[in-house]
Amino acid sequence: MRKTFNFSAGPAVLPEQVLQEAADEMMNYKGSDMSVMEISHRSALFQSIIDETEADLRKLMNIPDDYEVLFLQGGTSLQFAMIPMNFMRNRKADYILTGYWVNKACQEAKLFGDIRIAASSEDRNFSYIPDCSDLSIAPDSDYLYMCENNTIYGTKFHTRPDSKGKILVNDISSSFLSEPMNVSDYDMLFGGIQKNLGPAGLVIAIIRKDLISETVLPGTPTMLRYKTHADKGSMYNTPPTYNIYIVGKVIKWIQSLGGLEKMKEINETKAALLYDYLDKSDMFYGLADKDSRSLMNVTFRANSEELNSAFVKAAGKNGIISIKGHRSIGGMRASLYNAMPIEGVKHLVKFMEEFEKNGGQYAE
Ligand SMILES: *Cc1c(COP(=O)(O)O)cnc(C)c1O
Repeated sequence: MRKTFNFSAGPAVLPEQVLQEAADEMMNYKGSDMSVMEISHRSALFQSIIDETEADLRKLMNIPDDYEVLFLQGGTSLQFAMIPMNFMRNRKADYILTGYWVNKACQEAKLFGDIRIAASSEDRNFSYIPDCSDLSIAPDSDYLYMCENNTIYGTKFHTRPDSKGKILVNDISSSFLSEPMNVSDYDMLFGGIQKNLGPAGLVIAIIRKDLISETVLPGTPTMLRYKTHADKGSMYNTPPTYNIYIVGKVIKWIQSLGGLEKMKEINETKAALLYDYLDKSDMFYGLADKDSRSLMNVTFRANSEELNSAFVKAAGKNGIISIKGHRSIGGMRASLYNAMPIEGVKHLVKFMEEFEKNGGQYAE
């Protein structure tokens, strides 16, 4: 059992059971006398790892057959370019600006076309999800872009935007496999796995097959075309083999807990412990509007800057790791990803209660 709780936004905590299994298999995977890291990606042994990971993910998320599952590299940030390169026909797209990562995606897409902001929550530093029930989207817009869970601001969409029949692309990096999703409500879901599914360096993209075509922007490199990866079963080049192996284990761990419905229930219980305390505390308060709150990233502050820094410092000495908020919002952020045990959240809340009771004077 570990002695600390890691609240990092990513790379982030992984299930102890998964790490232990990987450790057990480190030197000799299934009698091969090799580590998974050392196995050829063209071997039958690795082929069965990637096939099983994809099949398990399809089952867990209930991914329809007319969607491709791709294992890609370059982080979520490379998708910010690949999406316009692959989907822009009219060189126009609409973005729902809900934070830092969408802003980055916009900046990248502007290299390729005209980007419109269909809705934004920038006026209140991204503390809420704007109303997206009746967006004005240009008739010739190529797609609508959103980010399901805003990792930095601690907000999350609780209803799907009406994309008015346009292609809907959703960055799910920080809510991936945290709850059930209706995949066919979207045309593309994608996310870096380092928040909730495994080690940094792999992106999983789930894309409606008929959107993957030869027709891409002129000059799009081979590696940046979805078709290249779809045609070769994500093995056009050497994929991040070890990451795929770990994701496979994380998926099996979620299955063993009871699947995504159960995962959601656990995540709601964990988040409620912290939000309930924030709502009644006189020292701490949550930063996201109640109806926009994230289950995965809880952002909060204490009454003064002095208290914020005293809290982060004291927390670090009490087994609460990486609780400091992102520089663009300040305060604190507790990331409660799937692998954060409920004991971790209880420990945090208990520590906050003591800190508040002592008026921020915490014995070191
Ligand atoms: C972390 C994160 C990113 C950036 O991921 P990289 O893999 O570092 O490029 C993008 N979007 C969201 C929602 C994130 O949480």
